Amino acid sequence: MVNEQALEPFLESLKKIFEAMNAKYDEAASFYGFQCDGCDENCCKTLFYHHTHLEFFYLKKGMNRLPPETKKQVFKRAVEMATEAIQNADSEKEHPRIMCPANLKGRCVIYEYRPMICRLHGIPSEWSFPQKTGVNRAVISSGCEEFSRQCNKKEYFKFDRTPLYLKLSGLEKQLKEHFGLEKKIKMTVAQIITS
Ligand code: SF4
Repeated sequence: MVNEQALEPFLESLKKIFEAMNAKYDEAASFYGFQCDGCDENCCKTLFYHHTHLEFFYLKKGMNRLPPETKKQVFKRAVEMATEAIQNADSEKEHPRIMCPANLKGRCVIYEYRPMICRLHGIPSEWSFPQKTGVNRAVISSGCEEFSRQCNKKEYFKFDRTPLYLKLSGLEKQLKEHFGLEKKIKMTVAQIITS
């Protein structure tokens, strides 16, 4: 059991890292003139996994701040997803497109507390960890389909996620050491909400 008061400084530091991510994303989006607004693919329907305790606790904090009725609705949808579709998808190694339980009527109700990938997805970026992988070149991720439609012809804006990832993993390490957390996390939003 993690003490909420002791957790708070870590979540404040995470907030700052997330603000830096938001700023970098905004800078890139503005360079391209990219508008992420109600596309049909909607990345809130993508089954992303989240891998840090920090994101886990931050999302839980966001859930606890919701009005009771909204929280109930989100929790109900998360239970349906976590117990049926997601388990099937895990066993069949498929990635179904199902709306995230935190998205109600097209709006993320925990927007301020959303995980990292929800902040970075969509715009081309790169990262590189030669110390870990032994490969001395950046991994490049292309943008989403809507990005390709709007901005494919534009030159690449260097969006290097590496310093942001390093900050996040450094803070995660501190958190795990502080609270003696050992297990690894690989969870969807639905699984975090229902755990
Ligand atoms: S947490 Fe929010 S932004 Fe992320 S997938 Fe769910 S609804 Fe979308």
